[in-house]
Amino acid sequence: MVQDYDDRHRTFLQAIMQGGAVSGEDATVLCYRIFNERISVERVAGLINDKLSPIAMAMKAGTCELTGQTYWSVVGTTHEDAVMLPSEFSKAERAFLRAVYSEIINSEDGYISSTECLNLTGTLDMKFSLSEADKFLKKVAAHKWLHLKDGSVFIGVRSIVEMMPYFRATYADNFHNCRLCKEVLFAGQKCPNCEEMYHNYCVAKYTAMQKTNQCPNCKQPWDDYDVSDVVLNSENNSQEDEDEAMDVAEEIKPSQPIRSSCKSKKRQRNE
Ligand SMILES: [Zn+2]
Ligand SMILES: [Zn+2]
Repeated sequence: MVQDYDDRHRTFLQAIMQGGAVSGEDATVLCYRIFNERISVERVAGLINDKLSPIAMAMKAGTCELTGQTYWSVVGTTHEDAVMLPSEFSKAERAFLRAVYSEIINSEDGYISSTECLNLTGTLDMKFSLSEADKFLKKVAAHKWLHLKDGSVFIGVRSIVEMMPYFRATYADNFHNCRLCKEVLFAGQKCPNCEEMYHNYCVAKYTAMQKTNQCPNCKQPWDDYDVSDVVLNSENNSQEDEDEAMDVAEEIKPSQPIRSSCKSKKRQRNE
């Protein structure tokens, strides 16, 4: 039984910190490898957080708005730390990221096109070239700060887990909330009838339960609503991030590369 904090918790914590944002499934596999027993990530995180709280840090989970997948990150919990943009970025990169966050949060649908995004380099009061911005976008997308999909740029799950205090400090109440889970929502589903907004993963769960495509609020049918990209059971799917998470795992046990053990794709198809 895992009851006390020991070196294994330290190893696990290091892996999460190195990974930046580690998917729920990869965290579960890591736990199993490190502790040699089936133990929930939440339970390990609980013990880790008891240790981290005096130094104002915590291991926290968040959900990707695009895929519905859970990710774990280690975040600062003091107000001053939390309102800063990540110090791993240069001054120009932080200015650019700040501009991108602003543009997305102030946009109608919670995302912007990659062209709009790159053009923000022209609004900065310091030099940041298009190619630098392009490279930076790819880097932050790989680390989940932003999410790039079909030529659009969304707020990434790592920003959702780590930057909420910054977002709240910067944008006050300028957020939508999901009607189902009441949490902050950047990009999701808006009912064309009553205009209530929902996380895609919240609607996917609701739709699966109700077995009908309709607005949870006004019950208007949603004919063209597609949840095919949304993972219903986030613990069971991480094919998108396997390679990155494997890098993390391999640093701990080089002889035993971790592969996601569960290949079943529990996806909701809109048929
Ligand atoms: Zn929701
Ligand atoms: Zn509605």
